[in-house]
Amino acid sequence: MIVMKFGGTSVEDAAAIDSSCHIVRERLSRKPFVIVSALGGATNGLLEAGSFAARSELGKAMVIADRLEYRHTELLPSAAEHFVRLRELLKALAAIGEFSPRTQDLIASYGEMLSSLIFADRMKRLGVDVIHVDARQCMVTDDRFGKASPLMDVTTSRLEEAAQPHLNAGRVVVMGGYIASTLAGVTTTLGRGGSDYSAAVTGAALNAEEIQIWTDVDGMMTADPRIVSKAWKVKEISFDEASELAYFGAKVLHPLTVLPAVEKNIPVYILNSRKPKGTGTKITLEARPCKNLIKSIACKRGITIVTVSSSRMLMAHGFLRALFEVFDRHHTSVDMVATSEVSVSLTLDDVSSLKAIVQELKQLGDVEVSSQTALICLVGNNLKYTPGVARRAFGSIADINILMVSHGASNINFSFLVDEKDANTAIKNLHADFFSEVDPEVFETAG
Ligand code: ASP
Ligand code: MG
Repeated sequence: MIVMKFGGTSVEDAAAIDSSCHIVRERLSRKPFVIVSALGGATNGLLEAGSFAARSELGKAMVIADRLEYRHTELLPSAAEHFVRLRELLKALAAIGEFSPRTQDLIASYGEMLSSLIFADRMKRLGVDVIHVDARQCMVTDDRFGKASPLMDVTTSRLEEAAQPHLNAGRVVVMGGYIASTLAGVTTTLGRGGSDYSAAVTGAALNAEEIQIWTDVDGMMTADPRIVSKAWKVKEISFDEASELAYFGAKVLHPLTVLPAVEKNIPVYILNSRKPKGTGTKITLEARPCKNLIKSIACKRGITIVTVSSSRMLMAHGFLRALFEVFDRHHTSVDMVATSEVSVSLTLDDVSSLKAIVQELKQLGDVEVSSQTALICLVGNNLKYTPGVARRAFGSIADINILMVSHGASNINFSFLVDEKDANTAIKNLHADFFSEVDPEVFETAG
């Protein structure tokens, strides 16, 4: 069997749902288990309605509920009955005046509960033998509401029981992603974007041949195509490489969510539901040999560098600990670090506590802050075997001022910071150099 997951944009309206259904229908011989996200924007809408209700702005909450009801009933008239219950819940929230994580999960669950019913109905009307499975009967999690973790053993046996006979009988199984329930039957969710996680868990539980994540991009690219018009699509990428890229906001998917599948050596494909003939990007456990030094150039903007200098650091110990404790106390994560004998530079992308952090750091030494820098990262499994990476990278951007460098901690990335205004030029030059020729086994033109 295979798992096919369709994201919010692949089920955002009747046309998108139809074309996703056709994509499934063309793959019936592979025994698809379909997992769908909520209709694009529905989860945000539901949670927004809940927040309004809990703040006693019931009117605003109901306007959102009306809009959602219209969208869903247009696709499936019987969805109306669920909105009766949803409105009762919203009223209850207004009366209680609070919106706990547990209730947030309950409200959000309407998104995938309904989208999966809609999708199954649509498949049936296309003449496909299909069965709808309620995720809350199969996906069993702990009770960390808002970001629950699946209990693999129970989930596996429940999924086998609920789906395997149908798959064997040639029936398509349709289930909502993201939502689940505790052993006691209380609704939970796997965290925002959690449908990918549902797909990975399902694939791992049922030993899928592969997992297909259908979304609205062609796959992972060698660079952001808005910056580099001739960016290539990466045909195959390792889990580690994909994880490095994810931090940089390659919004395709967060690889951690597909780890349960990758660990079992089940290949995960990222595919474009708007271009179903494309071959997408395959994520695998190990990287395949590649003639190019790197697979992709990623960039994260809006990075702040904090530098602390103090002669007290000279030959002293315990200084770094004191320094990091400051960040720890303010729940701020540090991404890159560079040290010299008397100074330490670190980068942050969350600056919500910056003021307080700087105040405390001043007790340790002089503090300097530079904002609006961009972190550029070359990602590729080959970096670890290859000398001369730095010379090549910096050679192609010789005119650009490098503010900070990190290399060695991870074998597969080489990162450095530049001024934000230099970022696009740097990316273009690096791309022109590193991808002047590409290994046809690993890269191809997108689309
Ligand atoms: N619908 C959920 C969200 O928007 C889960 C998902 O789409 O993966 O976060
Ligand atoms: Mg998603």
